[in-house]
Amino acid sequence: MLQEQWNLIEQALLKEFPDDQELWLDHIQFLSSSDEGIFITVPDQIYKERFSDKYYSTVNTIMDRQFNQRYPIHVMVNEEEDEELLILNDDKTVLDNKVEKPTEKKIFIPDLDNKNTFDQFVVGTNNQLAHAAGQRIAEFPGRDYNPFFVYGGVGLGKTHLMQAIGHQIKSSDPLMEVRYVTSEQFTNEYINAIHKNQIHNFRLRYRNADILLVDDIQFLEKKEGIQEELFHTFNKLQESGKQMVFTSDRSPRELKLITDRLLSRFASGLVADIKPPDFETRKAILQNKMIKNNINIENNILEFLANNITNNVRDLEAAVIKLKSIVDLLNEKLTLEKVESELKDILNYHDYTKNISIEKIQKEVANYYNISYSDMKSKKRNDAIAKPRQIAVYLSKQLTRFSTTELGNEFGGRNHSTIIFAYQKIEKEMQISESLRNDIDHLKSRLLRV
Ligand code: ADP
Ligand code: MG
Repeated sequence: MLQEQWNLIEQALLKEFPDDQELWLDHIQFLSSSDEGIFITVPDQIYKERFSDKYYSTVNTIMDRQFNQRYPIHVMVNEEEDEELLILNDDKTVLDNKVEKPTEKKIFIPDLDNKNTFDQFVVGTNNQLAHAAGQRIAEFPGRDYNPFFVYGGVGLGKTHLMQAIGHQIKSSDPLMEVRYVTSEQFTNEYINAIHKNQIHNFRLRYRNADILLVDDIQFLEKKEGIQEELFHTFNKLQESGKQMVFTSDRSPRELKLITDRLLSRFASGLVADIKPPDFETRKAILQNKMIKNNINIENNILEFLANNITNNVRDLEAAVIKLKSIVDLLNEKLTLEKVESELKDILNYHDYTKNISIEKIQKEVANYYNISYSDMKSKKRNDAIAKPRQIAVYLSKQLTRFSTTELGNEFGGRNHSTIIFAYQKIEKEMQISESLRNDIDHLKSRLLRV
């Protein structure tokens, strides 16, 4: 409980700035404390600025002197508008001026992950634009690209980039209220707040953010109540020029189950995607992580890995962790053979695939989508059959070495351009559809099972 500490700080401030008492200092109120530090409220933005310009450094000096440590201070603006909200919601606790202290972990989010900073982020052609925009936003929050909407597949660095923006802003101005939250947490906190009659606290927390980072927005699909809440939060923050960043596994256009008015807001700033990394970027990421983990590895092994771990950055990281454990625990030198055998489950290694027949792929896919094997070769073109067929084509092209003409023959005598078209169509769709990626991952792992 840090209230006593705050009381001491307050007394020291009064001593230091006696003339400021009535006009300024008396309006700074203790709100609560948690693992995140001390939360205080002020009546408006001007107070907040004054706190940052005039009192903050003194507060730090006081903390150094009296406690030998600095607690993070969070200054929340407690505007009248919120009082109205609070009457609407009949939030008695706050009306009685007894704001319940939000000490629960559930309400106060964990900080940003320390490793998700810009200097750990490897830039490649796949993420160049998103990265550049992120840096610009970190430098001038709320100015050029607001909101910033980043989308892309699993494990491609969306959360990393988003948190890097938060870190950067916080390090240039520690009093900036950077709120990072996954949309799942946002939902849970909201529901919790309603149950506990603490909606005012909830709103104070998000509508007071200087920077709001909401991760994995696709989770809000179909949840209209919480979409509504986010919509109002959005408007409030945009009105006051506060930066917002959202991520999603799909582009705003693909988020079919989010209301149009919220979607149009998401898309009203800059929308950028992150694609899977190409070979050069995968190699750079591996190199970077090997160095950090103190692993020495020959270039041919590095290239072997970059060639055969192609799905996402998370898999590249998993490989590095595995290699690190081999070096540390087994004390063994990393030969290509060793690497190959230890990383079997991560590698999309072509040699594993040489025993797979087209027929096996067709049967597996047909079975998975509940269509008949003969449909794979049929002329039927309705989506329920054409789609699995295209997926089977995609997998056959990836997992076997047959030419597109040969594949055409195996898929009911189609010509090679139809095969290429099907392959490209699925490849494109995978970039935006997580469920398709999951399906394909699932099918692949079944097919590659030895
Ligand atoms: P997403 O949120 O898109 O699913 P994450 O941001 O969680 O992906 O990234 C997965 C892992 O890969 C994290 O550990 C992250 O640090 C790492 N990572 C992703 N992109 C990069 C990159 N460009 N450079 C370095 N590490 C990255
Ligand atoms: Mg993420």
